Amino acid sequence: MAIATINPTTGETLKTFESLSEQELDERLALAAAEFTTYRTTDFKQRTAWMQSAADLLESEQGQVARMMTTEMGKTLVEARNEVAKCVKGMRFYADHAEAFLADEPADASAVGARRAYARYQPLGPVLAVMPWNFPLWQAMRFAAPALMAGNVGLLKHASNVPQTALYLGELFARAGFPPGCFQTLLIGSDQVERVLRDPRVVAATLTGSEPAGRSVAAIAGSEVKTTVLELGGSDPYVVMPSADLDGAVATAVTARVQNNGQSCIAAKRFIVHADVYEDFTDRFVARIEALRVGDPVDESTNVGPLATEQGRDDLEMLVTDAVVRGARVLCGGFTPDRPGWFYQPTVITDITPEMRIFKEEAFGPVASLYRVENIDEALALANATDFGLGSNAWTTDESEQERFIADLEAGIVTVNGMVVSYPELPFGGIKNSGYGRELSAHGIREFCNLKAVWIG
Ligand code: NAP
Repeated sequence: MAIATINPTTGETLKTFESLSEQELDERLALAAAEFTTYRTTDFKQRTAWMQSAADLLESEQGQVARMMTTEMGKTLVEARNEVAKCVKGMRFYADHAEAFLADEPADASAVGARRAYARYQPLGPVLAVMPWNFPLWQAMRFAAPALMAGNVGLLKHASNVPQTALYLGELFARAGFPPGCFQTLLIGSDQVERVLRDPRVVAATLTGSEPAGRSVAAIAGSEVKTTVLELGGSDPYVVMPSADLDGAVATAVTARVQNNGQSCIAAKRFIVHADVYEDFTDRFVARIEALRVGDPVDESTNVGPLATEQGRDDLEMLVTDAVVRGARVLCGGFTPDRPGWFYQPTVITDITPEMRIFKEEAFGPVASLYRVENIDEALALANATDFGLGSNAWTTDESEQERFIADLEAGIVTVNGMVVSYPELPFGGIKNSGYGRELSAHGIREFCNLKAVWIG
């Protein structure tokens, strides 16, 4: 994939970039390794000051950064602004809490025959972050902020279609005062990832993206005995039970499906509705999806912009076609609008059977699959009938049903009477083919630390 900014709203190539040469790459890795030897010794006060200053800068540049993201990957400008604000919050969260999250953990000294015993978190070194385009700032920031606050140095290999956002990130930290090798953007293709991963100066990797990319990175890192965190795809269920607040469930369902033009790993993708409220939910849900305004993402009144890439739009179209050919019913949408750019009409389909690709695969765009179930057992069985296990949503006011969903949904995240959202305060990640490891919260900052056991006699 060429490293280029191609506006998904028009299909126009705006800027292309050369990938780093072998020599340039080697220089970047040498700089990262050299920087780590001193950066690891900086104290939390210093790191906090730099992180707050980076947050201040980003906050002051919110408008231009939002526009850059919209141009590169097509999210609405309104959502892009929110993404910038969310990053600022995440940066300040780790600036404020890193020291407490990484404080020494005392152990029972007498039980181990020591005068003092404790566990200490120490940074690991240069960490490679392979990141996707869908939240180009937030995905990278939720790695960068904890990594830098922990004393690690970051190497960002961003998706090839968001190079300007990638470069901005590298410059942001340098402008904020972090020493030059602390966070570097590597403009490289995915074919150069293996070379970086196998480099002895790189000690760990995190990847957010598709399952094939995750498997590849994990296999290479595994063969080098390097730790990884994988945040892969999802096909989140959204269950609606009879006791649910139906107004809330319908309105939230629409947002949960079409946020970010439908391209979110934690978007609700499979809507599993109890028979008692199925007709009512379906009528209202379809009406709202049909009413969405599809158009230029810069326009403040637009609800759904284009998909980020032509390939992504074509893949989505093929997923729907496969289902329709095998007997699925389209309740609304189901077509590519006749206009330039990579748009897909928001769609609801039903009568889905297990042999259809969409039953198993992630629909990465504004396409909702709708299922009818008779009871909670059927709802749970269908919700869990996926190889993914990232987020999950359940709507019910019955407390015993709530407990059942919390206990039995196979996912890293369960949201009751709401939609899955990532928060700095809560751990984020999945099980099954959605990956492993956690980002955000205290757990996220500890992923790339050496937890050193200390015993003093
Ligand atoms: P992708 O193709 O896997 O790309 C993600 C990143 O991985 C890009 O930087 C890409 O580089 C790189 N990459 C691709 N193939 C690679 C390989 N074989 N080896 C090393 N690096 C490789 O993912 P996508 O399709 O653009 O993004 C959408 C996917 O990401 C969806 O499945 C979505 O659910 C998932 N996602 C998950 C989360 C989460 O937190 N769990 C969040 C957001 C998105 P190039 O761009 O140069 O190919």
